[in-house]
Amino acid sequence: MGDGSLIVAASAVQASPDWFLPQDRDGGKQDDANSETKKSRNLGSRIIDDPEEAARIRSSLVEEGGPFADWHPLLQDAIRRSAGRCVARSLYVLPVGFRWKHRRGITLVGDAAHLMTPYAGEGVNVAMEDALKLARAITDGKPADGDGGDALDAAVVAYEEEMWPRAEKVARLADELLKLWMFSGKVTRSVVAAAIALHAKFQTPRLLHPVASALSYALVYGQSILG
Ligand SMILES: Cc1cc2nc3c(=O)[nH]c(=O)nc-3n(C[C@H](O)[C@H](O)[C@H](O)COP(=O)(O)OP(=O)(O)OC[C@H]3O[C@@H](n4cnc5c(N)ncnc54)[C@H](O)[C@@H]3O)c2cc1C
Repeated sequence: MGDGSLIVAASAVQASPDWFLPQDRDGGKQDDANSETKKSRNLGSRIIDDPEEAARIRSSLVEEGGPFADWHPLLQDAIRRSAGRCVARSLYVLPVGFRWKHRRGITLVGDAAHLMTPYAGEGVNVAMEDALKLARAITDGKPADGDGGDALDAAVVAYEEEMWPRAEKVARLADELLKLWMFSGKVTRSVVAAAIALHAKFQTPRLLHPVASALSYALVYGQSILG
């Protein structure tokens, strides 16, 4: 940040969808009668301003049983020593390949159309391409006299037909990377190599996938052999 400070972000799989809610004395989640809790549950996120609770959450991440209990002490320190408010957020995702039946007069762009987790680091790019292509569709689909908007509607249909497979390809990559990073056990060198291979295959034609994959593994393991 401008003042020399850093924002520390940590991402982990939690067993309960209510993991971010405040706990009562018995370790259970507070009653729904508490409107703050209700609001947080609806939003799937919570800003924790109370320094004691923020410290408790930070410790629970790195202590025994926490998702970062076996991480390197330097990384644990980055979490433990961070100060200020703590923001807990859930990540949501639409199913890969999600589509809707076209409705005249309305369409969607960006996350509203194809919400994916950030693991591919591509959501903004897809959203900007959607915006560009929809803008072109609207300007190209200028209504002819008396067509009742048919030309515009056809242009929006063409935008949707082009957008779905383009977004699906990226959503699939994000989904595969999410499963690899978060659900394949420890982050070992083989997971890093597999992630690089997935990115490389995403950028190359199908015919070259075996080469892209082999080069990715050679890069990661070659580096470790050569030191
Ligand atoms: C942690 C994280 C890391 C990410 N990292 C990357 C990355 O490295 N690279 C990348 O390409 N993408 C990344 N993304 C994805 C990227 O942020 C999104 O794909 C992108 O912001 C989608 O843009 P959007 O305009 O569709 O939606 P948004 O950016 O969500 O914009 C929607 C806007 O609508 C507003 N809004 C919502 N409801 C209403 C309402 N009722 N009335 C008025 N306004 C409303 C919201 O406040 C928001 O400002 C990341 C996402 C997350 C969560």
